[in-house]
Amino acid sequence: MNASLALTGIGMTSQRTRARMVERLRAQGVRNESVLAAMAAIPRHIFVEEALASRAYEDTALPLGFSQTISQPYIVARMLEILCESHKGDGRKTLEIGAGCGYQTALLGHLGHDVYAVERIRPLLVRARGNLAQIPKVKAHFKHADGNLGWPEAAPFDCIVAAAAALAVPQELLRQLAMNGVLLLPVGGDEQYLCRIQRTPQGFSETRLESVRFVPLLTGVE
Ligand code: SAH
Repeated sequence: MNASLALTGIGMTSQRTRARMVERLRAQGVRNESVLAAMAAIPRHIFVEEALASRAYEDTALPLGFSQTISQPYIVARMLEILCESHKGDGRKTLEIGAGCGYQTALLGHLGHDVYAVERIRPLLVRARGNLAQIPKVKAHFKHADGNLGWPEAAPFDCIVAAAAALAVPQELLRQLAMNGVLLLPVGGDEQYLCRIQRTPQGFSETRLESVRFVPLLTGVE
């Protein structure tokens, strides 16, 4: 088989396995059709290390190096679903904290968000940027920084979503949330829950959602 045929073969296989992943997400309770379409469209195998590409569509977290993991598809889909359904406004300026390999960045971009992605580990940020360049029509802004501080020059944001768990909600992020905006972030140490904060004219309103398991939100950069 020549190289281009081999590549087509991989492309078709990944499309089929992605379709199976989407069916599994449905069975697990993900209902938002835009999110499911984004999960079907964005090839996850591009974002994981080559040696793990054959496992890219399993519902499991996979190592990214640097003691970090790409989150399991279910939790990524669930967070995007909560984000889409919690934010009713038109604005889609979104701060993503913990870009990792850029998979969720690509999904947010596909969903029409103008994504400002922050990552504290420089080699991961470089990888995320390179991975995004392989996804046609999806772009994002990237910054090597400590996400606890948000991205003040680009604030306010309609949505803020974090892929690492904070011990307490970073106050700076609340300051950078637009009116009617929504912040979604895992909170806790050994026991974590997904915390949703909506900013309304009356103030901030917090809802505790399901239990989750994320890597910790660290401080500083490396
Ligand atoms: N959504 C990512 C998940 C990566 S895991 C993906 O799809 O690959 C969480 C990421 O958060 C890690 O890359 C970690 O380095 C990053 N992180 C942890 N604390 C951070 C902080 N304070 N600022 C920015 N990124 C942080």
